[in-house]
Amino acid sequence: NPAKSKYHPIDDACWSKGQAVPYLALAKTLEAIEGTSARLKMVEILSNYFRSVIALTPEDLLPSIYMCLNQLAPAYHSLELGIAETYLMKAVGQSTGRSLAQVRAAARAAGDLAAAAAAARHTQRTLRAPPPLAARHVFAALQDVAAMTGQASVNKKIAKIQTLFVACRHCEAKYLIRSLEGKLRIGLAEQSVLQALAVATATTPPHPQGVTVLDASKGLSTEEFKARVDEHALIIKTTYCECPDYGRVVAALLQHGVPSLPLHCRLEPGTPLKPMLAHPTRGVHEIFDRFEGEQLTCEWKYDGERAQLHVPGDAAPRLHHAAVFSRNQENNTTKYPDVLRRLPSLLKPSVTSCVLDCEAVAYDVANKQILPFQVLSTRKRKDAREEDIKVQVCVFVFDLLYLNGRSLVREHLATRRQLLREHFNQVPGEWQFATSKDCSTMEEVQQFLDEAIRGSCEGLMVKMLTGDNSRYDIARRSHNWLKLKKDYLEGCGDSLDVVVIGGYHGKGKRAGVFGGFLLACYDPDTEEYQSLCKIGTGFSDDDLHKLSTALKEHVIDAPRNYYRFDAAHRPDVWLAAACVWEVRCADLSLSPAHRAARGRLHPDKGLSLRFPRFIRERDDKTPEQATSAQQIVEMYLSQDQVKNQAAKQTSHD
Ligand code: ATP
Repeated sequence: NPAKSKYHPIDDACWSKGQAVPYLALAKTLEAIEGTSARLKMVEILSNYFRSVIALTPEDLLPSIYMCLNQLAPAYHSLELGIAETYLMKAVGQSTGRSLAQVRAAARAAGDLAAAAAAARHTQRTLRAPPPLAARHVFAALQDVAAMTGQASVNKKIAKIQTLFVACRHCEAKYLIRSLEGKLRIGLAEQSVLQALAVATATTPPHPQGVTVLDASKGLSTEEFKARVDEHALIIKTTYCECPDYGRVVAALLQHGVPSLPLHCRLEPGTPLKPMLAHPTRGVHEIFDRFEGEQLTCEWKYDGERAQLHVPGDAAPRLHHAAVFSRNQENNTTKYPDVLRRLPSLLKPSVTSCVLDCEAVAYDVANKQILPFQVLSTRKRKDAREEDIKVQVCVFVFDLLYLNGRSLVREHLATRRQLLREHFNQVPGEWQFATSKDCSTMEEVQQFLDEAIRGSCEGLMVKMLTGDNSRYDIARRSHNWLKLKKDYLEGCGDSLDVVVIGGYHGKGKRAGVFGGFLLACYDPDTEEYQSLCKIGTGFSDDDLHKLSTALKEHVIDAPRNYYRFDAAHRPDVWLAAACVWEVRCADLSLSPAHRAARGRLHPDKGLSLRFPRFIRERDDKTPEQATSAQQIVEMYLSQDQVKNQAAKQTSHD
């Protein structure tokens, strides 16, 4: 519901045309966003800032967007910030003449290193004030810091951070330190940034020849303006999903304007797109309730690792440029030299370029048997040499998203599947299409589920085959793909991916390692990690050893100020939110002590997992991609006993 704004992008900006955007303008925008919890207000504040950038210094739009999101580059460049806290403390200490212990104590007292650093910077006098920071220079410096690697780089990083830090004015230090910590914590989700861009471009459209239109909403009725914003939002969001690279999207947007963005910025082999995700379901009934009268197809749900396979090409496929990307758009190409070498057997001569959505699964070639995920996870993650590879992989292809220069994401699944079968070969044990069956009765689905489980699969993926709902919903957890796992009947419908935030020292047989852990879900609305349960089951001795060793590097001396927990669960050791684990549980229940989703269902009760057990590490997920507070609410509400209770309540009322 965007309201027309009275903001004047030139008069109200604190810099003039052609001048580099001062970092202070961005920091003040972030501060204003942090000061509000209303999403519409956040979008308005940010869109006003973007309007000024577009009108005055469009080349600073890209660094501005990246810094609002605390990103440095597209995910597949694997360039990440998140400097170890001690180094940041050292940089702050050295710039303000304090010892590490003093900075540490101040950070603990303020509950936040960024706040303590900002206070220290404030009281500090400098002989000659360094020139003010420009947003683009801060961004370039952040990229430099992230790109420095190796032990020898530590001092260089600290020096670079110091140079920035001493030049900070007003609230700049706070946001600089937070950016370096890898967490902005202003409650600004990516969707809001894209929405702000839509509002900004609908009001102050970029113009290739530099003609500045300050307020294109003038002359439009409120309804017309809203329609324009909606149209821009749809174009920008879909374009970004097909091409998750702000560099390309922003360049095209500035050069050609939003309406023609889809013509200039499309899905292309080489740029991984955000994958379609599925919703959990608790049973065959639910599927038919949802998809009544629709044409359904079920596919075996393989338990491996998602692999988006890209083959670029013009007249012929450029096989040596083929790449494999993970669920998170990370580049996994060097993990699969064996798979890529076999590419020629997959492509029929009609293929010049393609993008395939697949699951890479460990495979016992001799016995023609799918192997569990645990076996796959023993493969080397990077720079694997083919001669060293022991675990063979069979790639199960389940979707075709791009073929011969054409994006297929808007096509129906039935069409995509037909093209897949027409243009690609199957090679047993190497390349196979996901086993599928178009089902029209519950019995058929149930029977096919049993077959999938006998075939060593996790369950089924149930998908719409035709109609608009069978398009590939990029980046969405869509109800048009449902996952039906074999254990949907026992306990809750799906496993959860949770973040480890604390450890408890083991006793007896487990002495010397952690014996239990405090787990949390993530709430993207508040950017908090909220305690969900303690866990001590499901681990082998070997797991505990390995996990305890791996977690050592994440030990921190106090809980982050964005952790939510009850004092009764205080762990022996706090851990930085870094590791994601998959866990299962018997069910979810309301809890006065745990903080997951507190306030969403009950003013002072959260949700917790009963009888949680560890399944595996999820190193393909970042902590922000853990199961969210809202998903936990949905899982709780979909439990039969909760549904029955609600039904009883309604009938009593
Ligand atoms: P999510 O990705 O939904 O957060 P997750 O990573 O825990 O959850 P699952 O719940 O296991 O994944 O289910 C989705 C995943 O199943 C897909 O990301 C994909 O890797 C895998 N998969 C296996 N077989 C198929 C198939 N036939 N169609 C789609 N996905 C499949």
